[in-house]
Amino acid sequence: MSKAYPEHEIWFLTGSQDLYGEETLAQVAAQSQEIARALDASADVPAKVVWKPVLKDSESIRRAALEANADDACLGVIVWMHTFSPAKMWIAGLDALRTPMLHLHTQANVELPWSTIDMDFMNLNQAAHGDREFAYIATRLASPRKTVVGHVSNPAVTARVGAWARACAGWSATHELRLARFGDNMRNVAVTEGDKTEAELRFGVSVNTWGVNDLVAAVEDVADDDVTALVAQYEELYDVAPELRRGGDRHESLRYGARQEIALETLLTSLGAKAFTTNFEDLGALRQLPGLAVQRLMAKGYGFGAEGDWKTAILVRAAKVMGQGLPGGASLMEDYTYDLTPGAELILGAHMLEICPTLTTSRPRLEIHPLGIGGKEDPVRLVFDTDPGEAVVVAMSDMRDRFRLTVNAVDVVAPPQPLPKLPVARAVWRPRPDFATSAEAWLTAGAAHHTVMSTALDVEVFADFAQIARTELLVIDESTTTRDFAREVRWNQAFYRLAQGL
Ligand code: MN
Repeated sequence: MSKAYPEHEIWFLTGSQDLYGEETLAQVAAQSQEIARALDASADVPAKVVWKPVLKDSESIRRAALEANADDACLGVIVWMHTFSPAKMWIAGLDALRTPMLHLHTQANVELPWSTIDMDFMNLNQAAHGDREFAYIATRLASPRKTVVGHVSNPAVTARVGAWARACAGWSATHELRLARFGDNMRNVAVTEGDKTEAELRFGVSVNTWGVNDLVAAVEDVADDDVTALVAQYEELYDVAPELRRGGDRHESLRYGARQEIALETLLTSLGAKAFTTNFEDLGALRQLPGLAVQRLMAKGYGFGAEGDWKTAILVRAAKVMGQGLPGGASLMEDYTYDLTPGAELILGAHMLEICPTLTTSRPRLEIHPLGIGGKEDPVRLVFDTDPGEAVVVAMSDMRDRFRLTVNAVDVVAPPQPLPKLPVARAVWRPRPDFATSAEAWLTAGAAHHTVMSTALDVEVFADFAQIARTELLVIDESTTTRDFAREVRWNQAFYRLAQGL
């Protein structure tokens, strides 16, 4: 079975102790290997699960933690106490562990063998208290972890393990992420600003700026033949407007769009960057705001934020990696305008141009229209409607002393009517629990108008990511009430300051 992260592993660590004797420990080893194999065989779990020899003492536990930290292939560790593993043995290891951890509270059997159960069975199958002992020390050490309860044959269990593994992959990806900003942020905008130094500490991402002249020079360097080949691809993939096709009046504008795509990808590759930002106020000698080029690069897995918004670019890149292999996609999104019909409120999201075509399974149209802002030539862009279905939108705000992630579970719907005059890609959605509650909570959170929209991921993956990153997460979903949400925001304000130390 092919895994979404074939280069990566999840390590399966089993805790026990020497007291049980060889026969029991051999059973512990065999049964924990079965659990690891079952996880590995699950289509929900997107990386290979690697069983490690049973841990029986403090030094081997510490050693396993250090090895997990040191191995770039290891996304995270799953720990399980099949038997009783006195938890003082885990102090040094948990204190050293920097790799994400999932505590799997399971056991080898589903049903109890009521008619044959004896003390040997009881001594072997005691996760019910072994895991409680472990969780005590993990909580006492404030070890960040996800706890999943149940037998591995239960799909609800493997789904939760899989969500966590995806979050681990996102975490790993932000740690190798270099983000190139072409120009600074849009002038005077507050929410797209943030502490880039803190972002490198918190998420591992390196955020740096290049002059737009570097991009201009790269555009000039693109070979004509490469442009011709890429334009031919566009004509295969999209419904290209007649005026943009070969022989059309405005074909040159499409060629320029292709030139920008090749230049951006070449430059980003040379910088080792998998995410970037642009700013329509600072395009230098670029003739068009890159629209098509940005849409196509997002579809190839690059993170992107408009108007210099590097925080959203991080989220787009993380969502791309976390959603690998799943149906659906991820894109920069912007809350744009509303339909306020009572009881049928909808949000229309879009951007000037830059919405990723992974949000649709339909065939996008490739068109050219005026932008009306920025004073450049008309840009080429892909136009489509986002597929209906469940999705999330996630924003990152810099709250001075920390980053805050806010996620809203939403339902993308088909536009109630066609939008023949709207020349940009878009999504129409109904936020949960309802429009007014969602928007009130979003505004109370100080969450941004730029988001990543993912149609591949649910709230749980982002919640796991936030926990691994030790970053605040506010969730707006079917169970949100404005009163409880406002309280949580207020309490978090105190909690996150205290949690950082006095
Ligand atoms: Mn914007």
